[in-house]
Amino acid sequence: MAEETIFSKIIRKEIPANIVYQDDLVTAFRDIAPQANTHILIIPNKLIPTINDVCEQDEMSLGRLFTVAAKLAKQEGIAEEGYRLIVNCNKHGGQEVFHLHMHLVGGEPLGKMLAK
Ligand code: 5GP
Repeated sequence: MAEETIFSKIIRKEIPANIVYQDDLVTAFRDIAPQANTHILIIPNKLIPTINDVCEQDEMSLGRLFTVAAKLAKQEGIAEEGYRLIVNCNKHGGQEVFHLHMHLVGGEPLGKMLAK
């Protein structure tokens, strides 16, 4: 069994977070240390530690990450100018929290894709 992270507590509202969307499959909340004017994390409610742990049964919730990202981008007023969706995996990807999450970042020019 994978170990829960702080994100499971956020989903269950056991610790505070600025939740902007929640349904039966996913939860979205503002990143605690935003790296752009808009920085929202969208996560499956089910604990999936990394992209490496994804299976076919997860396709509904992972697809939902994208529909919610599109909806929130519109809501944030950043859809037309554009934004970036990022999912980090493990050490080389810079993943810090081992509950799969999609970063929705935008609201300003984001520069080149990779900063090494
Ligand atoms: P990663 O590097 O794993 O892709 O991204 C983890 C993200 O989670 C970081 O951007 C970090 O700021 C955010 N984060 C970590 N702990 C918390 C928390 O307790 N609350 C919120 N809202 N964001 C968090």
